[in-house]
Amino acid sequence: MRVRFWGTRGSIATPGPGTNHFGGNTSCVEVTTASGDLLIFDCGTGARGLGADLMARGKKAIDANILLGHTHWDHIQGFPFFSPAFINGNSVAIYGPEGSRGPLRDVLAGQMEYTYFPIDLNQLPAKITYHDLTEGIHTIGGARVVTQFLNHPAMTVGYRVEVDGVTMVYLVDHEPFSDELWRAGAEPGLVESILHDGDRRHARFMADADLVIHDAQYTPEEYPSKKTWGHSTYDYVVQIAAAAGVQRVALTHHDPSHNDHFVADIERKARILALQRGAGLDVFCAYEGCELVLEPRSTSIFFALDRSQASIAQRHFHILVVDDHPDTLTMVVRALEADQYTVSKATSGPEALRMIDEHIPDLVVLDYKMTGMDGLAVMKTLRAKPKTRSLPVLMLTSMSDEPSTRAAFEAGVTDYVTKPFSIPQLTARVRACLARTQFR
Ligand SMILES: [Zn+2]
Ligand SMILES: [Zn+2]
Repeated sequence: MRVRFWGTRGSIATPGPGTNHFGGNTSCVEVTTASGDLLIFDCGTGARGLGADLMARGKKAIDANILLGHTHWDHIQGFPFFSPAFINGNSVAIYGPEGSRGPLRDVLAGQMEYTYFPIDLNQLPAKITYHDLTEGIHTIGGARVVTQFLNHPAMTVGYRVEVDGVTMVYLVDHEPFSDELWRAGAEPGLVESILHDGDRRHARFMADADLVIHDAQYTPEEYPSKKTWGHSTYDYVVQIAAAAGVQRVALTHHDPSHNDHFVADIERKARILALQRGAGLDVFCAYEGCELVLEPRSTSIFFALDRSQASIAQRHFHILVVDDHPDTLTMVVRALEADQYTVSKATSGPEALRMIDEHIPDLVVLDYKMTGMDGLAVMKTLRAKPKTRSLPVLMLTSMSDEPSTRAAFEAGVTDYVTKPFSIPQLTARVRACLARTQFR
């Protein structure tokens, strides 16, 4: 497998003398498999150069598979400049997560409306197909491609590509699920010792990969003021990749305010941390033009899914929100109603249990600290009854400390979201919970 970086910048293209080495174009990675399949991860401004290069290679027909992690600008802006799409006889298959605001095709057509761009999406001569993805196992070209939702303020999927004895995992953009990575008292450095279910799932998703390409936009010093923006720090990535037995990590999605000197310093610090972890992890900061060849290993493993997934785009869901703070309750209810869910509300634990007894919702959004009966007591009652034993519960709370997080997962919550949170982040997490539900 050959991997080449065409765009390594996050958020917005940042050309100029200060970014000459690591590059100013936004996310785009070209992957060519041994059997010749072309997989393109994200279509930021780097896709323009890739398109031109593909054309210059002089192949008769170009068959491109574009795998979008999500549809924020910095991951799609290069698409209208991807020249193979302008040639009759070429084909472009575009994959991306089911969006909460309409199908993938409509989202891409939006940025090519005449207000923004002179050529309509429908006018492109290449054969273009659209594939909305949820979590699951897919076949793209000859590759086995597994998708899993990431933590970002938009529906975002990570991709795990297994082909020709090589595993490459693309995880851009993503923010840690929890401030605390390790469970207190557990041996640090093991996947089983990770505190939050989401971070543990994230580690398992990259397990044993030959290469992980991961968002590492911030330093640990910058992160507190950038919480809920949906990006990782290099120390989170190194720790989690080392625990997961990853061979090599490319840090990418460099912050627009970080010049070459700054990114080189991140690389140096990340390497020191990787050495301290002692897992033999090779870590580097991706730069434009960087090319890697991944050789097959006999030990490569296939990722197994532990649950069934289904498209939720066409389904209707009922969500119960339980909170004794009127402001939070109103805000969450409004956000979910705006996403077309049927929402009911309860202001105490006993009221919620009564309502669930009468009618089981598809998901409960549950506050932790409530006067009288708290969220953990509600969980205990729900998990004791067969009919609500597997009811998905997303706990929403200001309690971000390790003991509270651990207690919530031990009580059986499905997900744990802490304040401060952003509305798009919450609605993405709600959607991921629903997609993972075993439908009754
Ligand atoms: Zn981005
Ligand atoms: Zn984004």
